[in-house]
Amino acid sequence: AEVTLEDLDHVGPATAQKLRESGYNSVEAIAVASPTDLSLSADIGESAASKIINSARRSANIGGFETGDLVMERRKQVGKLSTGCSEFDEMMEGGIDTQSITELYGEFGSGKTQIAHQLAVNVQLPNEQGGLNGSVIFIDTENTFRPERIKQMVQGASEHHNIDYDPEEFLKNIHVARAYNSNHQILLMDSAMELAEESKNWEQPVRLLIVDSLTAHFRAEYIGRGTLADRQQKLNKHLHALQRFSDLYNAVIIVTNQVMSKPDAFFGDPTKPIGGHIIGHTATFRMYLRKSKGDKRIVRLVDSPNLPDGESIISVTPLGLTN
Ligand code: ADP
Ligand code: MG
Repeated sequence: AEVTLEDLDHVGPATAQKLRESGYNSVEAIAVASPTDLSLSADIGESAASKIINSARRSANIGGFETGDLVMERRKQVGKLSTGCSEFDEMMEGGIDTQSITELYGEFGSGKTQIAHQLAVNVQLPNEQGGLNGSVIFIDTENTFRPERIKQMVQGASEHHNIDYDPEEFLKNIHVARAYNSNHQILLMDSAMELAEESKNWEQPVRLLIVDSLTAHFRAEYIGRGTLADRQQKLNKHLHALQRFSDLYNAVIIVTNQVMSKPDAFFGDPTKPIGGHIIGHTATFRMYLRKSKGDKRIVRLVDSPNLPDGESIISVTPLGLTN
């Protein structure tokens, strides 16, 4: 029989009703909620909310096991993508991992899109130059992908490695799709999978998938308290598709997430990125970008399963990212 909200520990009829009124219609929706969101929606304490979420996770059977040797076998294949900045690379012990989701969050103009463009160039380089000899899928939700910028960065790479790279070839290996709304963005993952599958026969298979921005459409479309559950559930589903993609194709996943410096009436704490909890638990690496003097940006590694937190400074120059 289907598990209903009333079957969960610590959920009586009154709480179940409040949860439903706030859009938490299923055990799955609760399983992926954050304690803060749930406690606000149902007027219960955060610790009670946590207990309800744990109970929902057990019921929804989220999780599952595999043996450590299998995990180790997969981990051996992890590749490193160089950012082109030695400090940044050192912070990441060689570069950005494949088989992981890396979230870049920061204010407008903090360099998220610039890093995305630079990685779209670098991933195409051979291993000796810090690349993965791969192609790119770029899901562009804000219409900020710029081929001109790629060309400049390829010129930068040519100068840096003293090799005459052809910018046109680099552009041909970047597959860009505009996402017009959050549903479209989610649907594009199906095409991305197809393309990555097909690319296994290419000279340069897809090794990098960028979603810039991950959250903008969700932020614009889901406004207000009653929509939180729905939004988090959709984001969560999207992130799981991204995680699956990174595992299947041993790819780097870059997602961006804009945060605001000024208090935001709809989303509460301005220092917390939207989708905070969900992304925090799914993204493997989270980096917080801040503007510094001139073209300098500070990249702070906020959360990592195997690396210490750290900071590095990069410059965004006409020829791309440098130290
Ligand atoms: P966001 O975090 O909002 O995605 P961006 O990555 O778009 O921010 O960063 C925009 C900034 O990048 C600009 O303000 C500028 O400082 C820098 N930038 C963009 N294009 C160039 C360029 N061609 N040469 C040098 N700097 C650039
Ligand atoms: Mg941007």
